[in-house]
Amino acid sequence: MVSTKKRIAILGSTGSIGTQALEVIAAHAHAFEVEVLTAQHNAKLLIEQAIRYQPNAVVIGNEQLYGEVKEALSGQDIKVYAGENALASVVQMDTIDLVLTALVGYAGLKPTIKAIEAGKNIALANKETLVVAGELVTQLAREKGVNIYPIDSEHSAIFQCMVGEFHNKIEKIILTASGGPFLGRKKNEIQSVRKEQALKHPNWSMGAKITIDSASLMNKGLEVIEAKWLFGLKPGQVEVVVHPQSIIHSLVQFEDGSIKAQLGLPDMRLPIQFALTYPDRYPSAFPRFDFAQYPTLTFGKPDTETFRNLALAYEALHRGGNMPCILNAANEVAVAEFLKDRVGFLEMSDIVEQCLAKIHYIKSPSYEDYVNTDKETRLKAIELVK
Ligand code: NAD
Ligand code: MG
Repeated sequence: MVSTKKRIAILGSTGSIGTQALEVIAAHAHAFEVEVLTAQHNAKLLIEQAIRYQPNAVVIGNEQLYGEVKEALSGQDIKVYAGENALASVVQMDTIDLVLTALVGYAGLKPTIKAIEAGKNIALANKETLVVAGELVTQLAREKGVNIYPIDSEHSAIFQCMVGEFHNKIEKIILTASGGPFLGRKKNEIQSVRKEQALKHPNWSMGAKITIDSASLMNKGLEVIEAKWLFGLKPGQVEVVVHPQSIIHSLVQFEDGSIKAQLGLPDMRLPIQFALTYPDRYPSAFPRFDFAQYPTLTFGKPDTETFRNLALAYEALHRGGNMPCILNAANEVAVAEFLKDRVGFLEMSDIVEQCLAKIHYIKSPSYEDYVNTDKETRLKAIELVK
């Protein structure tokens, strides 16, 4: 009998989004089947997940861990692959219906492109892919008739507001930002903060990179760029408002002035589930919002003088071409170095700004141009750290 279940590949199944995606799938086992699981270093959890969910194949990114995974899964009917190239080819398997990109950073670009080339729909958490090469990726998706369903909570909110409205023009969208752990602080108060403080997000529990990005407002900058490409907007149509309670996940304003918003408790399982079940909504046992617990919802303007990353992201988006790719690569290096206590919190923005100024501009980059820009920027950023 042919299975009618949606067959899913999860890239980055051991991370924050990946593990929550598996929770959603487990709660709706009648509807979904896990076809592929991948991880970079966490072989132990990947093995556990593989034994539980019985995918057709797994990929361990770190090739040194291949032996360990292969051995542990030797009694199972599960193919085991290793390395970056395996990741890029496994997404093309015939038996996959949808690829959920829950891996972090630039590493998502190549497998996402390969998946789209093979006609796979994408449930996209990996925002960096659209930041680096949004034009190329969305153009390719259009050519291949592939849908990209957003998982990022703000973009899922916009998407949910758009249901039934896809024929209507958007005047603007308003992305909400929690403001992170340093909301309201000034430069002199945050210049010496360490990773331990920056890793404490008030409303969300996430992977380390996005948590630092949230503290520095780079996450919102990346999301502005992500929104531009997902919803086909001009930079001036994407606004950011600070909303510390993270209850309104984002808003859309239509041409008649009407604003729609999507609300709920901060819980990534909901946007993950909607990306998997669209256009349907499935029941869930996630905790429900209670107005009594939130008598006030507040809003404010982002402080882009203290948190310069948001302004830098807008600048990169306005200039276009390979600028967002430079922004992303410089930021990935800066965050990695901050996590190793090798650069200060505010220095992360200096590194991004200098890379935007120094790496040469390409107006209409090809895939190879993006690859080279990423490499060149990382070298420059490392040099700046030293
Ligand atoms: P995470 O660090 O918790 O997990 C990352 C996953 O990617 C892990 O499974 C890891 O093994 C894998 N990975 C890491 N480096 C890799 C590489 N070089 N090649 C292949 N795989 C690699 O990260 P996360 O918080 O789950 O975030 C994943 C993506 O989702 C990011 O792009 C992030 O911006 C986005 N996102 C996350 C959240 C959230 O709540 N965590 C919300 C919105 C968007
Ligand atoms: Mg988000």
